[in-house]
Formats: sequence, C-alpha cells, structure tokens
Amino acid sequence: MTENNPSETARHALKLLASRRLAPTPDNFASIYYEIAGSKPNANGDAQDADRMALVRELCEQLARTVECCLPVLGEDDASIGPAAWALIRACRSEFESLANLNVKLSTFNHRLSLAAEDQGEIRRALLGLLQLVFENIGELSLDDHWLRGQIEALMKASEAPVSLRRLDDLRRRLMEVIQKQSSLKSKSIEAQEEMKRLLAAFMERLSVAAETSGEHHRQMEACAKKIESANSIAEIAPAIQDALSATRWMSVESARNRDVLSAMKVKAEEAAAEVAQLRKALDMASASARHDLLTGALNRKGLEEALEREVARAARQNTTLSIAFLDIDDFKSINDTHGHGFGDDALSHLAQVARESMRPQDTLARFGGEEFVILMPDTPLEEGVQTIVRLQRALTQRFFAAGDTRLFITFSAGVAEVGKDEPPMAAIHRADRGMYQAKRAGKNKVVSA
Ligand code: GH3
Ligand code: MG
Ligand code: MG
Repeated sequence: MTENNPSETARHALKLLASRRLAPTPDNFASIYYEIAGSKPNANGDAQDADRMALVRELCEQLARTVECCLPVLGEDDASIGPAAWALIRACRSEFESLANLNVKLSTFNHRLSLAAEDQGEIRRALLGLLQLVFENIGELSLDDHWLRGQIEALMKASEAPVSLRRLDDLRRRLMEVIQKQSSLKSKSIEAQEEMKRLLAAFMERLSVAAETSGEHHRQMEACAKKIESANSIAEIAPAIQDALSATRWMSVESARNRDVLSAMKVKAEEAAAEVAQLRKALDMASASARHDLLTGALNRKGLEEALEREVARAARQNTTLSIAFLDIDDFKSINDTHGHGFGDDALSHLAQVARESMRPQDTLARFGGEEFVILMPDTPLEEGVQTIVRLQRALTQRFFAAGDTRLFITFSAGVAEVGKDEPPMAAIHRADRGMYQAKRAGKNKVVSA
C-alpha cells in the first residue's frame, strides 16, 4: 500500500504498530512507516522533502492565481502577453512541469509584463492628453458662457494626473453636464439662426416687391406726366391726375404694409433673441439642480447625496471609517451687510477654493446651503477628521480674502462626526451640524467633535 501524504502514512503506521503489538520504538515505527510508504528509510529527510514539495505546489498555485488576476488589468492591447500568461498558468498547475521549465516561462512572462505595463502607462498618459485637448476645444467654443468656462476649467484640473476612479467618476459627471448644456444651447441657437434666415429672406422679398412697386409707380407717374404734357384741356388733365393720385395712394398703402411687416419682423427677431437668453438662464438654473453649485463649484445637495451614498458603500466594503465635517462661516451676515452681497459671494468661492487646495484628492466638498459646507473624508477616523478641519482653519487664516481694498479673515465653526456602522449618513450630518452649533456657542472659529 502506498500513501502520498506523510501525516496519513504516519497515522497508518501507528495503527499497524498497535495491531501487531510491537513496541512503539522509533526503529519499529520507521520500518512500518516505510513498509507503508513503499520506500527505504532515509532518516527523516523524506518527510521534509514531501513538506517542501507541498509548499512548492502551493506557491505554484498562488503564482497561477496572481497571473490570472493580472490579465484583466493588462487589457487586450498587447497580443503576446496573453499566450505567455496562459503558458505560465498551465505550467504552474501541471504536475509534470519541472521547476527549471517553470522558471523559463516565468521570466518570459515577466519580460512581456514589464513591456505591457510600460505601454499601459503610456496609453494612460496619452488618453489624458487627448482629454485635455478635447476640454480646451470645448472651452474655445463657448467663450461667452461663464458657467461653461468654469466647468471647463474644473474639467481640465480634474483630468490632470494622477487619476483615480473617484476623480474619473467626478470627471464623467461634470462632462455630462457640459455636454448636455452645450447640445441644448447649440440646437437652440441653430433654431434661432434658422428663424433669422427666414426673417431675412422675407425681408429681402419685401424689399424687391417695394422696388418693383416703386418702379411701377415711377412708370405710372411718367405716363401721367406725358398725359399731362400732351393734354390740351383741364378735362384731359383731370383723369391723368386721378391716375397719378391713385398710383401714389397705392404706393403709400404698400409702404405702410411694408412698415407693418418690418416691425412684425423686428418683434419676431427680438423674441428669438429673448428666447435664447431665457434658455441660457434656464440652463444655468438647471445646472444648479444638477450636481454642482454654480458659485463655488462644490457639489450641491443632490451631488452630496450621491457622493454620500457612494462613500458610505465604499467604507462598508473596505471596512474603513468615514468622517463628515459640517462648516458654517462665522458672522457672514455682517460680511454681506458691510461689504455687499457680491463680496459675500466671492468670500464663499474663496473658502471653497482654499478647502479644495488643502483637502486630499479623495475628500469631497459640498455646499449644503447658504454659507454652510459639508466635507466628506473617507478612510478617516474622528480624531484625524478633526485635525484635518483644524488644518483647514489655519490655511484659511493664512490666506486672507482680498477684494479691492478690503482684506478680510474668514473664519468658520465646524462639527465633525464619524459615520456609525449602521447609522443613516444624514443622521451623521445632523450630528456634525449639532457639533457646529456647539462650536458657535463656544465662541466661534472652533472645531467640535460630535
Ligand atoms: P453665525 O456666525 O452665527 O453663523 O452668523 P451668520 O451671520 O453667519 O449667520 P446667519 O444665518 O445669520 O446669516 C447667514 C447669511 O448668509 C444670511 C444670508 O443672507 C447669507 N447668504 C446665504 N447665502 C448666500 C449667498 O449665496 N451669497 C451671499 N453673499 N450671502 C448669502
Ligand atoms: Mg448658517
Ligand atoms: Mg454663519
């Protein structure tokens, strides 16, 4: 009987030792062990060899799985890496492949892998370059639209390396908004252009009718003049004058009609222009109901809800902690009252800008309302979250806000909460909000963990 597994063989040997009523000495055990294993005793080297072989098999299987996992990442751009990978995987799983052959296949694969990885890096850089070019071009097409220009700048910034899935996702959303706005603006202005063309064509026709009419008028007048010239009596002149009068009257009726038509055209042209202007406004409003806040470029409430859902799911999947900060600018009403609403608006943009610069790429900034902001900080325990917001406070005091001759330090009060395992994310936002109120009560310009 032959056993492959050394521990199985040893167990069997012990049983046999007992059933033959032999003393359990090492020698007796060894001779029965090798009787079962069907090989000669060789100290305990065979058992060690068997263990080592089992380990090698396990390593080969791990290697095969690693290569399998790599394959989808490498894409299908390089045709030669697939066969090299599969040759290696098969060799890893074959009982008959020698380690030397395995080594050859592994080094072939490694060589291909290094080339493919280099290619993938290049491809990614080139794609990003193309993306930037596309954005630049969209930007060129919409020079007169502030919202679009802002979005394009954000797109260019977001498409700078290094990219992450989070940034690509944000990029996709922003791009969709831009495309939607571009296409509806375009179709509307094509419509307006068509309308203007129709108006112009009608106007030209009117003009040529008017020219013809005045030509006719001229001819009739000449005929009248001739009649008058050759007239020998008042009785003969009277009908000629009558002709001239009626021709002239017809002419004035015609020109009054022309005037009416022209003013109707003017009204229509103004209506078309107003419609385009209104559409721009409506689109700006629509973009506000999309995912980004127009003024600050931060996510709006809808964008925040989506981001929150995404980050909570990610935190659960990766078993990490998500912290949320709720910020409210201090004494913002008096900033508005003292320096004007426009200044207040610029101060809001300034805060958003400083926040974006001091946050990590994976953090998310959203405008919750008025002068309130929410920051999502993935993979951040509460204490670290508090420190991050304190750092933002410092960054804000280092970069005072200047507009015209006015320089101003903007401060905010904040609450920070860590989202509990089964806590609805909105409840965590409300906890952070309560923390913010505590910070206000404690004298403002403070961060409180909630
Ligand atoms: P506190 O320190 O307690 O937060 O006082 P505060 O003055 O900041 O708070 P309050 O809620 O009394 O005032 C908020 C002000 O923010 C009132 C509102 O007019 C102004 N505000 C809200 N949204 C905007 C905006 O988009 N632009 C500007 N310029 N002001 C805004
Ligand atoms: Mg407030
Ligand atoms: Mg406030």
